[in-house]
Amino acid sequence: MKEISMALVQWFKNHKRDLPWRQTNDWYPVFLSEFLLQQTQVTQAIPYYQKFIRRFPTIFELARSIEDDILQMWAGLGYYSRARNLLKAARQIVTHFNGRFPTDLKTALTLPGIGPYTAAAVLSIAFNQPLSVVDGNVIRVISRLFAIEDDVRLSATRKAIQLKAQQLLLPTQAGLFNEAIMELGALVCKPAAPLCAQCPLHTSCQAFHRNKVDAIPFKSSTPARKKRFHLVFVIRHESYLLVGQRPGKGMLAGMWEFPTIELDAPLQKNSPQVAAILSSKFPQFTVKACKPMPVLKQIYTHIHLQYRPILLQSAAKISFNSEKYIQTRWIRRNELEEWAIHKAHQKILQHAQFKQWWMASSVIES
Ligand code: SF4
Repeated sequence: MKEISMALVQWFKNHKRDLPWRQTNDWYPVFLSEFLLQQTQVTQAIPYYQKFIRRFPTIFELARSIEDDILQMWAGLGYYSRARNLLKAARQIVTHFNGRFPTDLKTALTLPGIGPYTAAAVLSIAFNQPLSVVDGNVIRVISRLFAIEDDVRLSATRKAIQLKAQQLLLPTQAGLFNEAIMELGALVCKPAAPLCAQCPLHTSCQAFHRNKVDAIPFKSSTPARKKRFHLVFVIRHESYLLVGQRPGKGMLAGMWEFPTIELDAPLQKNSPQVAAILSSKFPQFTVKACKPMPVLKQIYTHIHLQYRPILLQSAAKISFNSEKYIQTRWIRRNELEEWAIHKAHQKILQHAQFKQWWMASSVIES
């Protein structure tokens, strides 16, 4: 075990990526990066990390910020509860722990958004505490290294992997070891076509010797995502667009979006139902004024969303009251980037048909 761990740490020292949060031993960059990296690839997280560290160079600036700012900076990363928890955790660290991360595992776990993985990552990497971390990369490396063929979705398999990770951990170099095994999973022991010939562990790897690398880890299939269908009204008046803020709880809590109606089934472009919905929700418009866009798609963890945006020009800043939103506002198009618009509706703003419509003459069609 010790030889494997030492080989891994040596490989890491020679091959690790120069990531921005690795440039200091301070806990704050590790804490910030661990929040950003939950459910997110390293390459996608880097620009967000740079943006956050520039704006909030210490935990104190982060704790003083407001939720709308954090959500706006987080826009596009998804899983927005992470952003809210980041702010709540920062405030608790400042209020209850004098701006220092609690170094006791039990206390660290009381912070919002800090589960066993994030607590172990921060405490081992920044404080060298002998705690193993088990993420998707570690599961893959360990299950292959020891040829664990059981379903990795089962908690018994996870526990067996956690135990192996703890046995491999070098107590005096816990942070380095944890970073090393995660890095090996990301760069060498990849999900498909792992680079076994370049792997520092291939002489010890049981999956490699038994020719089972492609079959391990075994994952049972997940239940299919639920399908959801939306009609989205993108309403323009001069250089303004109408948006609403979602409730503070539930999916995409607190995010902004174009007025949206949930449907039971997808609608064809010229379905009479579009006219019916339009006249009940926005009686000032006629179907003739609608410019339907193609159906767009967005995948969430449990949901496969299909939505058809309808482009409309309004002669005035109409009001739109809906129980669905905390508030609605008319926002200038060139200021929308500063608002926390969720990713599905950002896609509308980036779509060629929307851009063409925006640039076209501002003839009032309603
Ligand atoms: Fe992964 Fe191949 Fe290394 Fe085994 S030898 S740990 S399968 S990269």
